[in-house]
Amino acid sequence: MKKISLKQTFAEQVKKGYPLISKDAVSHVNGVWEGELIEWVDERGAFLGKGYYGVQNKGIGWVLTFDANEKIDQSFFVSRLEQAAKSRTHLFRDAQTTAFRVFNGEGDGIGGVTIDHYDGFYLIQWYSEGVYTLKAEVLAALEHVYPDYKGIYEKKRFDTSGQYIEDDDFVKGEKGEFPLIVKENGMNVAVYLNDGAMTGIFLDQRHVRKAIRDRYAKGKTVLNTFSYTGAFSVAAALGGASRTTSVDVANRSLKKTSEQFEVNGIDVDGQDIKVMDVFKYFPFAAKKGWTYDLVILDPPSFARTKKHTFSAAKDYKKLLKEAIQITAENGVIVASTNSSAFGMKKFKGFIAQAFKESGQTYRILEEYTLPEDFRTTKNYPEGNYLKVVFIQA
Ligand code: SAH
Repeated sequence: MKKISLKQTFAEQVKKGYPLISKDAVSHVNGVWEGELIEWVDERGAFLGKGYYGVQNKGIGWVLTFDANEKIDQSFFVSRLEQAAKSRTHLFRDAQTTAFRVFNGEGDGIGGVTIDHYDGFYLIQWYSEGVYTLKAEVLAALEHVYPDYKGIYEKKRFDTSGQYIEDDDFVKGEKGEFPLIVKENGMNVAVYLNDGAMTGIFLDQRHVRKAIRDRYAKGKTVLNTFSYTGAFSVAAALGGASRTTSVDVANRSLKKTSEQFEVNGIDVDGQDIKVMDVFKYFPFAAKKGWTYDLVILDPPSFARTKKHTFSAAKDYKKLLKEAIQITAENGVIVASTNSSAFGMKKFKGFIAQAFKESGQTYRILEEYTLPEDFRTTKNYPEGNYLKVVFIQA
């Protein structure tokens, strides 16, 4: 196995259990191929860990084992997937929830790859060309651990230079019929595993949707911004919201959101779906004097529209201030972000500042991070990217 030495500060990190090999950890890499198994060593050549080389946005590879005697072979992959499956037993048993994550990258011991379960179908997401070279091993392990699977799909979430535009992401087994209707805490969700990067649902918000449906929606007017397929709106409507308004700038959102209401037997005509820039909707609603009892903010970490560039790290405070303007007295704002550029402490700082600058007081009602199936490791805290805060204005 090829050895690559890490600069001292990075070697110290890895020695403490940090599984990611940062770009700056090595001064030069020559003749290494994507997916090559590597022994990471310190500057004196002492063993730190074994893993693979694979360039992704976060680094150039991962440590898969800190045990010099453990082999990275087929049984390694089987054991990691088996272990991961064990901690999802409660979800496999829950007939009301048929979509969840069964393998969460470094949190389950293999950085760079995740696997989601959608009612018997499995979706593998590959985050580097390197980890994609381990496809045969991961697939064999998946088939071994879940022999009753219906079909397997994949997303190559690395630059393939447009090579797979025609691809429907199907790997093997039975082909699904889409939309596939899965359940989450009893709510129906229409998903597509064969239609671009996103499936229709962000599985990491399961507990948040349940909270909204069961405890925050009854009799309330709800504004769901950056609504995508309207999953939060549907949860609110099922929870008895008097009316939901979903706002998303993408044209597809109208059809996608209508579909999610329909598969739950909710009359779409009683709901508002607006294809519009959120940053136009806020002043528009404010001018009309509209307010909402529950305002949901779940922007992407980074987005560019024709007029606007939004970065969660830079602009979240401003977004909150706009939301505060149209939140009813004692109303609730659900502030969510999936940005790994800042942590919960800083996020709460944005909240504090936004309310202060708006001359209003607030109370934090509850907070969420990733659900248990999006397993994280304390050795890689950045992996716990989700932050959701329920705020009463
Ligand atoms: N909250 C959603 C997920 C949001 S994904 C859910 O729970 O499923 C981010 C969405 O933001 C995308 O659908 C994208 O079209 C939308 N978006 C990005 N910039 C926007 C803007 N300026 N105005 C409205 N929508 C925007």
